[in-house]
Amino acid sequence: IWITLEGGDGSGKSTQAGLLAEWLEGRGRTTLRTREPGGSEVGVLIRDIVLHHRGDIAPRAEALLYAADRAHHVATVVRPALERGDVVIQDRYLDSSVAYQGAGRVLDPDEVRNLSLWAAEDALPDVTVLLDIDPSDARRRLDAADKPFDRLEAEREEFHARVREAYLQLAHAEPGRFLVVDATADPDDIAALIRARISVLL
Ligand code: C5P
Repeated sequence: IWITLEGGDGSGKSTQAGLLAEWLEGRGRTTLRTREPGGSEVGVLIRDIVLHHRGDIAPRAEALLYAADRAHHVATVVRPALERGDVVIQDRYLDSSVAYQGAGRVLDPDEVRNLSLWAAEDALPDVTVLLDIDPSDARRRLDAADKPFDRLEAEREEFHARVREAYLQLAHAEPGRFLVVDATADPDDIAALIRARISVLL
């Protein structure tokens, strides 16, 4: 079973990934928590490039770097884990690219999606949880938690608004794969919604 978590910075993806892994382990499942970019050794190097050179990488080059990270990650980490029977819980996948490199950076979202599908040999998760949040709420939340919001500040507010809209459109187009939750709700309530969606797959 392959579960991906999507949503803007500060939407609570890591918190929910942790709660879900704990619950699954408690039910005797082996879980693998991973992320993109940076879920493999090579991916860590790519993550370093894309995050430290934000804004000065040509948009198509940036999209290709994310796709390269994805190709290597799916081939060497995700597929082997799924073949072992592990539950893979992954922070961000191709929907991030469509939202950030597509809508955010104004590349053609369909082209970005097709690039990612090629990179990943058409692999799609069983469930994608979209933690939907208004970018200004996300910023307030990162402030309150005393977490640096430099990632959010690095981009203009309207960029994050476009990313959010792109995510919601993706979820609308694939209701069977997506579970959309209000990321401002209580974390335990969100976790319960996610568990309900996953438990039918176990
Ligand atoms: O979620 P994580 O902290 O790993 O993401 C790192 C940063 O990379 C985030 O600020 C996110 O906005 C950005 N990102 C991106 N395009 C992607 C994936 C992540 O711009 N495809």
